[in-house]
Amino acid sequence: MTRKQLVINGEWRDASDGATMPVINPATEEVIALVAAATRDDVDAAVAAARAAFEGPWGQMPARERGRLLWKLAERLTEQIDEVARLETLHNGKPITESRHVEIPMAAECLQYFAGWADKIEGDTIPVKSGALVYTRREPLGVVAAIVPWNFPLLLAMWKVAPALAAGNTVILKPASQTPLTALALGQLAIDVGLPPGVLNVITGSGSRTGQALVEHPGVNKIAFTGDTSTGKGIMRTAAETIKHITLELGGKSPNIVFADADLDAALRGATVGIFYGKGEVCAAGSRLLVDKAIKNEFIDKLAARTKKMVAGDPLDPKTRLGAISSKSQLERVLGYVDIAKQEGATLVAGGARTDIGTGKGFFMQPTVFADVTPQMTIAREEIFGPVLAAIDFMDVDEAIARANDTVYGLAAGVWTRDIKKAHYVASKLQAGLVWVNTYNVYDTAAPFGGYKQSGFGREMSKYAFDSYTQIKTVWVDLN
Ligand code: NDP
Repeated sequence: MTRKQLVINGEWRDASDGATMPVINPATEEVIALVAAATRDDVDAAVAAARAAFEGPWGQMPARERGRLLWKLAERLTEQIDEVARLETLHNGKPITESRHVEIPMAAECLQYFAGWADKIEGDTIPVKSGALVYTRREPLGVVAAIVPWNFPLLLAMWKVAPALAAGNTVILKPASQTPLTALALGQLAIDVGLPPGVLNVITGSGSRTGQALVEHPGVNKIAFTGDTSTGKGIMRTAAETIKHITLELGGKSPNIVFADADLDAALRGATVGIFYGKGEVCAAGSRLLVDKAIKNEFIDKLAARTKKMVAGDPLDPKTRLGAISSKSQLERVLGYVDIAKQEGATLVAGGARTDIGTGKGFFMQPTVFADVTPQMTIAREEIFGPVLAAIDFMDVDEAIARANDTVYGLAAGVWTRDIKKAHYVASKLQAGLVWVNTYNVYDTAAPFGGYKQSGFGREMSKYAFDSYTQIKTVWVDLN
């Protein structure tokens, strides 16, 4: 059994009270590791280490040198990509093809992108009436706590760690309890490449104990959080006590709108990848399929046929496209929504049940599609976070937009049409931080990502990320 400690100040150590937590492989239900459960004392130690590194070596290091170290970290991650990808699949249940060929490479690329930015974070000179020299400096915030969920454990961590470090902050990373192994692997790589002690601390532990202690801690300057909207609301309330900077990347109920004039084969692929990539455990999942009434029957029939062909498999098998749901509780939660959908009168056209891969073990579920969903039904309103698609129809462009926006969330949206004017018009009307036209679920480190409404605020990736990891200082110099 692997035992893993905390990474604090460039060293591995146990939790101060020796407590540990099990990590379970959702595909086999076996305990694959025991990790330390950090206490408040450990959080104090991590904050002290991060503060010392911020005021010491990291804060004083020339930005270009910081960038060079981050680039080296990316190279080391790339060298170990097979092992890190394997860990990602083991603790999350996602297909190895997603870990190995999509997400861990994206995490390394994210680091490289921000390594390149480290010495290009510039301020402005501002003309003012008096003729004084006024300029701005973009300065780091200090100690950043990154609290991340279990669906893309390393990638979502990197979306925070990379820009935070590039901007000169130091970081305490708290991965989700279910999926701590790749964050800990990153902690080891940071030691290996010679990041000064305290620059990147990785502390595992429950949200209620370790996470809460980070959010309350007066020595933490910023919380960068991805996770459930209700958790985000609690973090916002707690962070108010110490006026922390926060960014929140929260839930979604994203509409994927298919107009009758779309390339329907492409839209079909987009609808499928939009909900079944990552087992639907994706904040930007296209979980509400809005289909033009004119093509509804044909489209849903084809979608159901396509969905029925998708079978869950061993996540470590390179051919598998649908892995295990991340945990027993998540599987139960998703199946609970299937029951509610049936009770509320939605039509089940594919899937809907637990399944297994011939081992009698693991939290596997059939990919599921419901048709005849109305906007008021629970599965049209609540984030399910699993492979369950709710298909809703619409009459015309205005109804499509109204239905798409009829949600508290506003993370992402998809639009499928061959009409370029309609595409831009609908994109402009959608209340979402990201709109994909004739594609879905594509990302690039250079393009910003983040929510409107209760999907949160702040942008990850891209140059806009620096708005969340720097503060502006204005300097006035009297030249008279
Ligand atoms: P949470 O939002 O609870 O967890 C996200 C992260 O926050 C984890 O690291 C968690 O730690 C931590 N955390 C939990 N409570 C606190 C707290 N009070 N203070 C600080 N940190 C905290 O999501 P869950 O894992 O509980 O999942 C619940 C539901 O949230 C899912 O079923 C899904 O619907 C949704 N979800 C949405 C995500 C998104 O990206 N939109 C991502 C993940 C989940 P720990 O793991 O120890 O609890």
